[in-house]
Amino acid sequence: MAEFENIYAKSNPFVRAHFDCPTCGGKLWEYAIQGQMVCEDCRELYPSKEIFDAQVSQ
Ligand SMILES: [Zn+2]
Repeated sequence: MAEFENIYAKSNPFVRAHFDCPTCGGKLWEYAIQGQMVCEDCRELYPSKEIFDAQVSQ
């Protein structure tokens, strides 16, 4: 019987994004699977698109 390999157990699903938290200025991490970003300081969740649009329009 082949061994089932869970890729999510090995790889870190968080990708450090090049954006700052609009609430506290902390660094945002992109949670690629859900298309969301989470702040490492205040733990606030934001949709990736919302952050991207906000940074582009500055
Ligand atoms: Zn924050």
